[in-house]
Amino acid sequence: MATRGGSAIKDQDRSLVYSAEDLWSKALDRGGVVNFFGSTFTLPQQKILGDLSAMQRTVDFWLQSKALQSRFPNLGPLVVRGRKGERKAHYEPDGVIAIPLDQPWACKEAVLVHEFAHHCAWSTDAPAHGPAYRHAMVEVANFVFGAEAALLLRAAYDGAGLEVADAT
Ligand SMILES: [Zn+2]
Repeated sequence: MATRGGSAIKDQDRSLVYSAEDLWSKALDRGGVVNFFGSTFTLPQQKILGDLSAMQRTVDFWLQSKALQSRFPNLGPLVVRGRKGERKAHYEPDGVIAIPLDQPWACKEAVLVHEFAHHCAWSTDAPAHGPAYRHAMVEVANFVFGAEAALLLRAAYDGAGLEVADAT
């Protein structure tokens, strides 16, 4: 989930974002009924994407979505490639997502959503995991996993004191 080749702006929220999203991803591993401030709702269970071609098909499908295109009008193509001997996935600003395929956690939908959100929100003028990124992450999560999962992600950010940018 690291990024590189990016901005000189300090990415000070990165570790808080990682831990908030980690809790959220664990809830999506389980799926099912969640109790949330006295309301219950049902979360989907996230998929494991077994290989690069499954991941590429998934991001291509997201890129073609009218819902995401209307929120992020200038999305360029994305290439998913493998990455050896590394512990983290990362996004490269020229439209590449690199996934360490030998790490079981890295082949989850939530990881791909994280990197895809970088593609939607990338700017050299903003921190890589800042409020604009988090806004994109909530939007992509809403598209991929539904409104309940997006609400839970927002709550996880909120619980960590991380603000989410408004829609632009
Ligand atoms: Zn990241």
